Amino acid sequence: MKYFILFVLLFILWAYLKKSLKGDSEEDKKLVECSECGVYLPKEDAKKHINWSKTIYFCSDECEKKYVESGKK
Ligand SMILES: [Zn+2]
Repeated sequence: MKYFILFVLLFILWAYLKKSLKGDSEEDKKLVECSECGVYLPKEDAKKHINWSKTIYFCSDECEKKYVESGKK
């Protein structure tokens, strides 16, 4: 009985890990909008920029630079 409980717990953990790993890869294929020029691109190709508590995305370094410079004004 003791081993059965352990097996169930391991199964739940395995199912949870499998689900979370799959969720991450699907998340990376989502399209995100460049905050500077409005172009849509896959999240995995986008440049991630953490601005305070929210995460914004850019299509290139150039756009990120423009966004940061305009934000300073
Ligand atoms: Zn852009």
